[in-house]
Amino acid sequence: MSRHSEVAGTERPPGFVFHRQSKGLFRRGADLVLHCEDLPLPTLAERYETPLYVYSATAIRQRLLTFQKAFREVPHTICYSVKANSNISILRLLARERCGFDVVSGGELERVLVADRRAAKKTVFSGVGKSADEMTAALKAGILLFNVESESELWALAECATRLRTTARVALRVNPDVAADTHPHISTGLRKHKFGVPISDARELYAKASGARYLKVAGISVHIGSQITELAPFAEAIARVSGLLRVLRADGHRIEYVDSGGGLGIAYQEPGVDFDAMVARYARAVTNPLRGLNVHLLLEPGRAIIGPAGVLLTSIIYRKENDGKRFLVVDAAMNDLIRPVLYSAYHEIVPVVQPVNSTKKMETVDVVGPVCESGDFFARDRELPRTEENDLLAILDAGAYGMSLASNYNTRPRPAEILVQGKSVKVIRRREKVRDLFSAEL
Ligand SMILES: *Cc1c(COP(=O)(O)O)cnc(C)c1O
Repeated sequence: MSRHSEVAGTERPPGFVFHRQSKGLFRRGADLVLHCEDLPLPTLAERYETPLYVYSATAIRQRLLTFQKAFREVPHTICYSVKANSNISILRLLARERCGFDVVSGGELERVLVADRRAAKKTVFSGVGKSADEMTAALKAGILLFNVESESELWALAECATRLRTTARVALRVNPDVAADTHPHISTGLRKHKFGVPISDARELYAKASGARYLKVAGISVHIGSQITELAPFAEAIARVSGLLRVLRADGHRIEYVDSGGGLGIAYQEPGVDFDAMVARYARAVTNPLRGLNVHLLLEPGRAIIGPAGVLLTSIIYRKENDGKRFLVVDAAMNDLIRPVLYSAYHEIVPVVQPVNSTKKMETVDVVGPVCESGDFFARDRELPRTEENDLLAILDAGAYGMSLASNYNTRPRPAEILVQGKSVKVIRRREKVRDLFSAEL
């Protein structure tokens, strides 16, 4: 149920681990207190208030390293998907570890450039609706690759590139028509989805692209969706890409890059899963179909790097009971973390402080926020140890698509974000003030 540092297999060091902490001189017993690296979460809650996003720098770095290691035998660049969590300090941390980036808007590109200007040459630009202004900015920044998703976009890019007399390196994002078992809103690789060009049309489009003076055909890209935990769909998609790659090379195109997208899922419900082993298996699934093809592989993981490296810390404001149904009303809400209602997503929730050898009663509760929507919940009918008002809860695996999807609905200022490394802590986004929210209206 929870991550005890004393229970083998359930810990996820060095991110978030329970440590035994004495209750003080005159009280008997000890508590298990959830820490981020070396810092107890209750101390952080006191200092920075709740709701609060807390990230472990070491966990982020290690998860990136896991990818880099798993792919070390092939030429590759990890292009972290900025939309998973776009905080500039996190981008900077990743850039320092030689990470590249995948952006889906001009705004995300600007974040990357602010984090590290030199990262532009390791940045790919994806997205189905790039505007001329966004493409122009990306050309000026000198990005690595445009993942083009339609013929219209191809000609719009050619026009921008011609105007700047700058060559745009181009990959077509192909839609492989591969089904992946994930939530319908985050599945993208089927014919019915808006993404990419049908793989059967790709050959003709590559021929057209190669005729444009300022376009340079350089790669093929694919991205079949997000939170995919089976490896077969990845292997299948890449197998189709490698088939296309042979055809294109025979046509005389110089295809240097294969961008295999992101989408590797994380184990929201199984804290014990061996991440290194999973990424190693993923690497085999992606690289096997490309064996002997001599390509530079680009990978766009988002969630798998940042998801488990962050928690949303929240306090219980009220306990209430309606006709026998119990609710914990917490100070975080759907505007801070929308995944439960948007994707029917499961997040493990743990009391931050738990007695050692807990004989504490369990209870079934809904964990809900203060927003005026029935969709404002983090868990329904969840079995949790009994907690009291003012107790702290940690909503786990909230590092990805948490803050980046947060809104100001109900005029709620967004939480602060802090980054912990060892015993040190840095505020990487201050808590918003209500005034910030309407300053553009006055
Ligand atoms: C969202 C997205 C990703 C990242 O997906 P994750 O599931 O977070 O790994 C990568 N590439 C593209 C094109 C995306 O849209």
